[in-house]
Amino acid sequence: MGETMAEMRNTRQMGETIDGVHILIVDDELHMLKSLKAVMQHYGFEVDTALGGQAAIEKLTASHYHILLLDLKMPGVDGHAVMEYMRERQMDTLTIVVSGETSYREMSRALRNGGYDYLKKPYAPEELIATVNNAIRKCRLESSNKLMQHKLQQSEQLHRFIVNNSPDIIFMLDEEGRFSFINSKVERLLSVSIEELSGQHISNIIDNEDVERANFFFKHIDFQSDMARSIELALKNRTNLKSKRYFELSVWPVNEEGNDVPPAGTKRFRLYGTARDVTERREAEAFINFQAYHDLLTRLPNRALFKDRLNMAVEQAKRNKTRLAIMFLDLDRFKIVNDSLGHSVGDRLLQAVSLRLTRCLRRGDTLSRFGGDEFTLLLPEVTDERATEGIAQKIIKALKQPFRLGEHEIYVGVSIGIVMYPGGGADIDSLIQNADIAMYQVKDSGKDSYAFYQPEMNAATANRLHFERDIRRALENDEFIVHYQPQIDASTGKVSGVEALIRWQHPTRGFIMPADFIPIAEETRLIMDIDQWILRHACRDLKSWYEAGLPKVQLAVNFSPLLVEQSDFVEMLIATLDEFDIPRDKFELEITENVILSDLEHIVEKLVRLNNEGITIAIDDFGTGYSSLSYLQKFPINTLKIDQSFVQNIKTEFDEVCIVNAIVSMAHGLKLNIVAEGVETECQLNYLRGLGCHQFQGYLFGRAVPAAEMERNFRSNKVVSLEPM
Ligand code: C2E
Ligand code: CA
Ligand code: CA
Repeated sequence: MGETMAEMRNTRQMGETIDGVHILIVDDELHMLKSLKAVMQHYGFEVDTALGGQAAIEKLTASHYHILLLDLKMPGVDGHAVMEYMRERQMDTLTIVVSGETSYREMSRALRNGGYDYLKKPYAPEELIATVNNAIRKCRLESSNKLMQHKLQQSEQLHRFIVNNSPDIIFMLDEEGRFSFINSKVERLLSVSIEELSGQHISNIIDNEDVERANFFFKHIDFQSDMARSIELALKNRTNLKSKRYFELSVWPVNEEGNDVPPAGTKRFRLYGTARDVTERREAEAFINFQAYHDLLTRLPNRALFKDRLNMAVEQAKRNKTRLAIMFLDLDRFKIVNDSLGHSVGDRLLQAVSLRLTRCLRRGDTLSRFGGDEFTLLLPEVTDERATEGIAQKIIKALKQPFRLGEHEIYVGVSIGIVMYPGGGADIDSLIQNADIAMYQVKDSGKDSYAFYQPEMNAATANRLHFERDIRRALENDEFIVHYQPQIDASTGKVSGVEALIRWQHPTRGFIMPADFIPIAEETRLIMDIDQWILRHACRDLKSWYEAGLPKVQLAVNFSPLLVEQSDFVEMLIATLDEFDIPRDKFELEITENVILSDLEHIVEKLVRLNNEGITIAIDDFGTGYSSLSYLQKFPINTLKIDQSFVQNIKTEFDEVCIVNAIVSMAHGLKLNIVAEGVETECQLNYLRGLGCHQFQGYLFGRAVPAAEMERNFRSNKVVSLEPM
C-alpha cells in the first residue's frame, strides 16, 4: 500500500501541473458521483458532475470539457446516446467510458464510437487517476500539435508570400527539365498561368532564337557543384509576341530533400532557379551603346563611329590598292536660321538636311554628323575625282531646294571640302583635317560649292591661327581705328548722326576691312573686346567734338550679339556713356535682327532697360533675316536700317522695288525711324525720299572716314543739298 501511496502522490503531482483541464463526471447514481468527485478532488482535480445522460448533454452544450468520465449504462439517455450527441457536434472532449458491464461488446462499441479509454467497475482509485492522467497527456499533446500545425500553416503562408512576391520568377525543374514548381510572378511577366506551365519543359518558354544556347547551357550544368550558373535569355511572352523580354536565369542543382548537392552517383536531381527581368537594363545598355556612336538628333553615326569606319576603309584601300574620298560638309547660313528661328527649327532643319543627304548616298557610304552643322561623308568606293565631283554636285543641288518647316521656307547651302586617299593625308586625322581645310577655302570664296584639298591650303589655315593671335595683339597695341560714316537727315539735309565702323591697320598686312576679321573675331569671341574698345574710342571722339562746339550729332555703334548677351551689358554700356558724358539720347545701339530673336527673353528685357534710359535701338541689315516687321513691333525698337542690298536694287526713280516699299510703309505704320543704307546714287536717294525715309547713309554722302576727317567735315559745316521734293 505504501508503494501505491507513493505512486498516487506522483500522479497527483502530475495532476496538479495541469491547470485549466475541465473534467465532467457522468453517472446516474448520486452516491457514485459523489464518491468519484471526492476521489478526484482528493488528487487535486477540478471536476464537475452530471446526474444522468440528459444533465450531461446540457452541461456539455453549455461549456467545454477536456475529459469526460461517462457511465455507459444509465436509464433514459445512456452513455451511448451522450457519445452520439457529442459526435454529431464534433466535440473534441476525450471520453473515458466507465462501465459495470462486463460485456466486451458494449465496451468495444463505445470505443468504436469515439471513446478514448475505458474503466471497468469496480476500479481502484489509482487506476482511475492513471487513466485520467493518460487522457490529460493526450489532451496536451493534441493541443500542442494543433499549435504546431497552426505555426506551420503560418510559416507556409509566409514562404508562399515571399516566393510569390519576389521580383524574380522562381522555379524548380525536375531531372528532365520540366517545371515542378513556379511562382506566380510568371503570370505577370510572361502572361502564362502556373497551371499551364507546371509539368512543361522549360524550353517551351524560351524564345526560339535562344533555345539552342539554352539547351547547351542546361546540358553543361555540373550537378556535383553547388555553384550557381547564369545565362541571359529572351523568354516568350504569350500575349505580346513582338516585344521580347530578357531575363537573367540563375540555376543551382538541388536534390529532392532540398540539400544543395545530390549524393554522388544519384541521378534524381532538380534545379532550383530564378529568372530576373533585365529588359530595362539591356535596353539602357543598347541605348548607351547607340548614343556612344550616334548623334541622337539625326540618328547618324557620330564622329567616333565615322573615324572607326574611316580607319577600316583606309586599311582596306591600302590592301586592295583602291581609292576613297572623304567630304567635309558645312551648311551655309545655318547660324542665321538657328539664331533667328530658334533652336527647335534649327534642329528640325538638321534632321531634314540629314534626310536629303542620305538620299544622295549609296549603301556602304558613311554619312556622319561631325558636330553642329558639320557633316562628314566617307565614300569608300569612288574611283576618281570626277565621280566624287559628281556626288558633291548632287549634294549641293539637293540642299539648294528650300526646306519647308512649318510656316517657314528656309534656304541653306553647303560648302564641301574633299580629300582623296591616297594622296590627301597620311592618317585618318590628317585626312579629316585636310577636308576641313578645303571646306574653309570654299567658305572664304563664296560658299555653296566644293573644293579638293590642295597642300597650299594649309598655309591659309595657319594664317587663320596667326590672325587670332594678331587680333589679340591689335587690341593691346591699339591697331584698330574707328571710322565714321555720316547719316543725313532727310528734312534738313544736315548730318544728324554718325555710325562708328571699325578698321584695322595691320603692321604687315596693311589696312583690313571688318568683313575680313569680324567673322574670326566672332568665332574666337574676341569680338567682345573689340566692340568695347570701339565703344570707348567712339565715345571719346564724340565727347571731344561736343566740347569743341561742333553739332551735337548722334552716335551709332554696332554690337555683336555675343556682347549684348553678357549679363552686365546694360551696366557696362551706361557706365561708359556716363564716363564720357554722352547724353543717352545721343546714342544708338545697332544690332542685327537675328540677335533679338536668338535669345528673346533676355534680349528684350535688356532692350527695355536701355530704352528706358533713353538709348535708341536700331535694327541693322533689316530684311536679310527671317523676322517680320509685325513680329518686331513687340520689341522696343526705334530705328530700322534697310539693308543696302535692297537699296542697291533701285535702278531708276520709277522702279517698283516691292520689298523696300513694303518695309517703308510698314515701318511708317509702326512709327519707326527709317534709315536707308548704302545710298550711292541720286536716283536711289530720290526714290527713297519719295517713299518717306527719314535718314540716309551711303557713299553718296560720304564714306566712313577717320575721326579727324569727320571733324573737318563738321567744321566746314557741309550741308548736302537735298532738293525740295
Ligand atoms: P554695317 O553695320 O551694315 O555697316 C555698313 C557697311 O556698309 C559698312 O561697311 C560701310 O562702309 C558700308 N557702306 C556704307 N555706305 C555704303 C555704300 O553706299 N555702298 C556700299 N557698297 N557700302 C556702303 P564696313 O565698314 O566694311 O562694315 C561692314 C560690317 O562690319 C558692318 O556692316 C558691321 O556689321 C560690321 N562692323 C563694322 N564695324 C563694327 C564694329 O565696330 N563692331 C561690330 N560688331 N561690327 C562692326
Ligand atoms: Ca551697322
Ligand atoms: Ca547695315
